[in-house]
Amino acid sequence: MTHDITGLMAALPGLDWITDPALVRQKSRDFFWYSPVLKRQLNGARADVVAVPRSEEEVVRLLAECHARRIPVTTRGAGTGNYGQAMPLLGGVVLDMSAMDAVLWAKPGLVRAQAGAKIIDMDRHTRAAVGGELRFHPSTKRTATIGGFIGGGSSGIGSCTWGILREPGNVLGLRVVTMEETPRVLELRGAELDLANHAYGTTGIITEVEMPLAPSEDWLDLTLAFPSLMDAARFGDALASMDGVVKKLVCVLAAPIAQQYFKGFPALGETEAVVLAMVAPPYLDALVPLLARHWGREVARIRTEDAPVPAYEFTWNHTTLQALKVDRSITYLQTLFPAPDHLALIARMEREFGDEVPIHLEYVRLGGRVCCFGLQLVRFTTEERLNEIIRIHEDAGAPIFNPHAFTLEEGGMKQVDAAQLAFKRQADPLGLLNPGKMLAWDDPDWTPDRPGKVYLFPAAEDEA
Ligand code: FAD
Repeated sequence: MTHDITGLMAALPGLDWITDPALVRQKSRDFFWYSPVLKRQLNGARADVVAVPRSEEEVVRLLAECHARRIPVTTRGAGTGNYGQAMPLLGGVVLDMSAMDAVLWAKPGLVRAQAGAKIIDMDRHTRAAVGGELRFHPSTKRTATIGGFIGGGSSGIGSCTWGILREPGNVLGLRVVTMEETPRVLELRGAELDLANHAYGTTGIITEVEMPLAPSEDWLDLTLAFPSLMDAARFGDALASMDGVVKKLVCVLAAPIAQQYFKGFPALGETEAVVLAMVAPPYLDALVPLLARHWGREVARIRTEDAPVPAYEFTWNHTTLQALKVDRSITYLQTLFPAPDHLALIARMEREFGDEVPIHLEYVRLGGRVCCFGLQLVRFTTEERLNEIIRIHEDAGAPIFNPHAFTLEEGGMKQVDAAQLAFKRQADPLGLLNPGKMLAWDDPDWTPDRPGKVYLFPAAEDEA
């Protein structure tokens, strides 16, 4: 499809445009190549042009002109999404939010920023200004934007205490511009937040974000080693359940993930499993008996601030990245091991797959209960085998939020979100925002071929 890009640029001469083909290609891509399936499907996706607005007013004018010319708009923060969320499937404009990066204000317990603000810059600002930090952040803290995290992310470092983005209270306000003949600017709060939270920018462009803060801490990165994966997992479970211990990370890695893929990592026994934890210094003593009970040993301890590579850059989706740097054939899964049987399920999957699917767990608090996400590595052979591995997990009761699919429904939702669909009909009546990412837009009756009742991002009506 050809779009009237010349007319669009002529209508908005004051806007910053990127037209250099190599840069446009680069800004049309994210970390989709984590998945061999998406690599095959999305490699050719590219925009016609990139627009870099400096203000909300420029966003409004851009959307109005694109609406008038029926030009698709795909929003981009830092492009660290790893299932093609920010990739334009039908060309058009990539709207790069990186220049709208101001922290607008911080108060005790609260911060408001423009959507293009980098998460690390927000944290630096709030630590200095009000002694607070974001409750949780993706392992891409040093590069990702806050708007991109809300648009395409879910959880991360801090989720062992605070849960995930979709849980009430973890996002407080979103300012959103709609894609209409005359775009509207809306402030979403309360239940309305879910209309734009984890919507891949299909229901509106987030221009400002208001987030709650936790008290900031001088975090310690701990590297702990255990004789077996299940010793490490049981330790992780006990630590994650200790509500009195202030912590930000509980990550469990089977051998040989750290041994084989982590450059510059402390020496480990060949078969030792690892727990990476971030704990506030006053609570270290509480860990000593717990470590002994699970046959663990402390391998390294360093202030997160002083670490050459912070521990969190070996966790969450960074684990996969570290492995990919060494072995390009590795891919991964995103799994929920639901409470209360998560430990039994993990043991079963370890027995089933062994070294074909080395286990990586991130402890989270979901709906108030400790459980874990699996971001297991997969030694990829064929798409058929990958699908079989997914099926075996789902049959066993461990739902997969498929990172090898680029639509909202096949990834985190696993169902049509009727509230987001209804909102999109008003906010983007021509379906121009990030087209192709919301299956329900083309097929409101879409159902997964493997129906189940466990969702990572429950649609509004299922939460009741
Ligand atoms: P982008 O990738 O640019 O965009 C993400 C999605 O949000 C896209 O659909 C985009 O269209 C949309 N979007 C961006 N900005 C806006 C806006 N202003 N308004 C509306 N929609 C918008 N994710 C996690 O949840 N937790 C992790 O720990 C984590 N770790 C990661 C580690 C690595 C190494 C990688 C590659 C990815 C990881 N991710 C993780 C995925 C990704 O980093 C996060 O989702 C990240 O927060 C995305 O931010 P971004 O600015 O790069 O967004």
